[in-house]
Amino acid sequence: MTARRFYIPAAAALFLTAAASKPLVESPLLGFTAESSSRELELESRFDAGLNKDNLRTWMERLSARPHHVGSPYDKANANFIASQFKSWGYDTRIEQFDVLFPTPKTRVLALVSPIQFAAKLAEPALAEDPTSNQTSEQLPTYNAYSTDGDVTGQLVYVNYGIPRDYDSLAVRGIDVKGKIVIARYGQSWRGIKPKVAAEHGAIGCIIYSDPRDDGYFAGDVYPKGAFRNEYGAQRGAVQDMPTYPGDPLTPGIGATKNAKRLDVKSAPTITKIPVLPISYADALPLLRALGGHVAPQTWRGALPITYHLGPGPATVHLKLEFNWDIKPAYDVIATLRGRERPDEWIIRGNHQDAWVNGADDPISGLVALMEEARNIGALAKSGWRPKRTIVFAAWDAEEPGLLGSTEWVEEHASLLSRVGAVYINSDTNGRGFLGIAGSHTLERFINEVARAVPDPQTKVNVLERAKASVRLRGSADDQKEAASRADLRIDALGSGSDYTPFLQHLGIAALNLGFGGEDSGGSYHSIYDSFAHYTRFGDPGFNYGIALAKVGGRAVLRLANADVLPLAFAPLAETVGKYLKEVTKLANDMREETETRNTRIRDRVYELAADPNEKLIVPTPMEAVPAIEFTPIQTALTRLEKVSKAYDSTAAVLLGSTKRPTANLISLDRTLMRTERALMSDAGLPRRPWFKHQIYAPGYYTGYGVKTLPGVREAIEQRNWTEAKTEMEVIAKALDAASTEIEKATRELEATR
Ligand SMILES: [Zn+2]
Repeated sequence: MTARRFYIPAAAALFLTAAASKPLVESPLLGFTAESSSRELELESRFDAGLNKDNLRTWMERLSARPHHVGSPYDKANANFIASQFKSWGYDTRIEQFDVLFPTPKTRVLALVSPIQFAAKLAEPALAEDPTSNQTSEQLPTYNAYSTDGDVTGQLVYVNYGIPRDYDSLAVRGIDVKGKIVIARYGQSWRGIKPKVAAEHGAIGCIIYSDPRDDGYFAGDVYPKGAFRNEYGAQRGAVQDMPTYPGDPLTPGIGATKNAKRLDVKSAPTITKIPVLPISYADALPLLRALGGHVAPQTWRGALPITYHLGPGPATVHLKLEFNWDIKPAYDVIATLRGRERPDEWIIRGNHQDAWVNGADDPISGLVALMEEARNIGALAKSGWRPKRTIVFAAWDAEEPGLLGSTEWVEEHASLLSRVGAVYINSDTNGRGFLGIAGSHTLERFINEVARAVPDPQTKVNVLERAKASVRLRGSADDQKEAASRADLRIDALGSGSDYTPFLQHLGIAALNLGFGGEDSGGSYHSIYDSFAHYTRFGDPGFNYGIALAKVGGRAVLRLANADVLPLAFAPLAETVGKYLKEVTKLANDMREETETRNTRIRDRVYELAADPNEKLIVPTPMEAVPAIEFTPIQTALTRLEKVSKAYDSTAAVLLGSTKRPTANLISLDRTLMRTERALMSDAGLPRRPWFKHQIYAPGYYTGYGVKTLPGVREAIEQRNWTEAKTEMEVIAKALDAASTEIEKATRELEATR
């Protein structure tokens, strides 16, 4: 039994019980009346009963049978297969083609030229235990897409994870990367941040390797004995400046249709400034071993059998990369089931279908769950049921090189989607473990309710309880405390890294990202070993979590499509924005304190006196003191948001709970509700990246996938830009106020349903 969230006046409840033919549910679902709740629950149990895990296995084996990256023959074959399935399930299905820039390698050379010579192999060997790993003629070699061409030779410097603070540590040791080639390990940031930061510091080339401490034998037995990355495994992946804009680098803001106006490859701002190549730890070892100079700080050391040094040199490397800068077709499969009552409100459910190589885990594990949802919802429709709202299933192409399929589709249909896009639900990889939920906080209460209704395949408690248990044990100290004291699990904010980005951050469509994981760890990510053989040993061998994802995703789609009123709740949004405000306030205070400490240490010569005179050390320079920052504009807007949110949520609970069938203009109410997320955007977007318009959630400019909440203010403070912090404060306050205005309007419209 779930927590009672609706207050139903006793008289009304009695009346409804007497009037209805069926016993009514004790607490109606969010967005439903008591009567429509029982109909919905009945539909959902039919949905659950129709799910078949054999389909997931069969489709995964077929879809991952050959490499299927953008522009490959099997990518097109898969798109056609997926489309034919959707058609056979009764969907109005089409394939939408976009023509996108997709570079593939022509030349890849990496060699140590001094003090000894070594040529990197840059290849992952086929394994007898993994039958698809030998499809060499169809596999993309290991490379980073949207690296620029380049032919550079220079001394090597080890830069740890290659994030901004690593360069601060190098500077203190007098190490400058200007004119050098850097080697960074994967981790701590999205990979595209590493060449961006390296180039900002004057490096001429960038190598990214997988260190066995993070991704290899230190983490667990390596493939094929275990699931982890073996010595020759390398992580492919895109490296363009995605925090500036995702999608086709040549067509920012517009769909990459055949005749779209394109930028010149040379002038595309998101292509890297320096050449960058990913390598295995077998290839990295001789390079790192040949480094001299300072011994790396303790936290910088990986698990290779060497003493890690920083350089520069004497290791000198030659890196030469040339790419075919081709335009390739991307095929998005779009399948529609038209809504009976509100066809102009779309519930969109997507997962990508392209992979770097065979991609059984990434993305097929999520895609096959989505397909089973679609098949089963199609079967319900064939039996006579019809959703109130329109359901759109999407299998995106070209996600791997940078969310191209979804971004181009969203850009091409931006004005339509701004009008009809109600909610977008994404998934990507999926495996054994715990449900991860991230998204718009207006959907937090809704998705908690959905997760409470789905049993965990291994423990039989519901998947929400299991997710909460994991947070209470493994979360950060704050999250542990919160998960123990709060009825609902707070959902994470969305940064970037999958196809929800254009919906949420460009158009302001409320979005969710769902997926199970945590007990499926391994190191097949973006390698030739992400295969059916690997997934069915280590991912989700029984496809039980594939079915669990189909239950969560399918149930979310059905509820969103059938609800009497879009099931948004605003108190969790207001509460979460309050939490973010506390965080940025603390950020400014901590920075003020740290700056004072540092400046006092400099004044008292602490750095010089505590250092070993034999080691070169650069004394840091004093920093400008952090001024007092006024958060009043956001605080004022937040106080209003809290008030109007509470008013809407309680009005919705009372009115929907006590009404048999709300009568007023529910289409208009839904429209207002849809506008609440749109209101959280600003037309001008974030500073220096106007494509990103959402004022609450954005991928970090220097973290990539990692989210920055209240990004305008948070990043201005982090960059010590006090003037910008002040300007952005007003922008965020204005967005919160605009959302409050829509929420107030929704409350009035709801009251009119009486
Ligand atoms: Zn993926």
